[in-house]
Amino acid sequence: MAFIGHGNPMNAIENNVFVEGFKTLGKCLPKPQAIVCVSAHWETYGTRITAMESPRTIYDFGGFPEALYQENYPAPGDPSLANEIVTTPSKFPKELDYQWGLDHGTWTVVKHLYPNCDVPVVQMSLDRGLSMEQHAELARELDFLRYRGVLIIGSGNIVHNLRMVDWNKLREPFGYDWAEAANSKIKDLIISRDLKGLSRVERSGMEMNLAIPTAEHYLPLLYTMGLAKSDEQHYFFNDISIGGSLSMCSVVLG
Ligand code: ZN
Repeated sequence: MAFIGHGNPMNAIENNVFVEGFKTLGKCLPKPQAIVCVSAHWETYGTRITAMESPRTIYDFGGFPEALYQENYPAPGDPSLANEIVTTPSKFPKELDYQWGLDHGTWTVVKHLYPNCDVPVVQMSLDRGLSMEQHAELARELDFLRYRGVLIIGSGNIVHNLRMVDWNKLREPFGYDWAEAANSKIKDLIISRDLKGLSRVERSGMEMNLAIPTAEHYLPLLYTMGLAKSDEQHYFFNDISIGGSLSMCSVVLG
């Protein structure tokens, strides 16, 4: 499974170092039976799982060039997989969803991994009612998917503070000291597979407060790490900060 820093929606149509990273990941991974993607951009009460045959491409952003709105990613869904996720015994409420689709947390990344739309994609929401520990616990309930050839992707950003972004430095590597410090602390927790530590980063100091002002871009990482095994290899890529307060750091495990 992987955690992917998705960053700017323009990555959908640009060629840059991050997009190269996404493409390389797609080439290195064995082709999965399906993808389950937990996106930072879908927050609900109770966890929702897209269950349509053909999920729509969602343009959940504004003010971008027309070319971005012309792009789409018509990958098939996987209603039976969605149903299986919902019916697997769980401590947490889950429901099938027929309204959402693939938002930019999912499609702007997955399109580079599998440009031929030949892997079914199911998207999973973030339940606003859960604590970080509970998100990690919910992730562990999805362990059965790993043995079914399903690729689980968390899509967010480890450090994500839009209020602090230096918009003039969005196209060059640049991270504030606190952003780099938080990024490297979180990487250490990933390396040591410290799921407890990863679930307790909120309000754990000034750097983390600035790096994770709201949890939604960080939470997808807990799904990736909740499923990681201690004896699996990890590989970081796109480990670059931009705009001062955004980390594109991504990791693949297993
Ligand atoms: Zn985002």
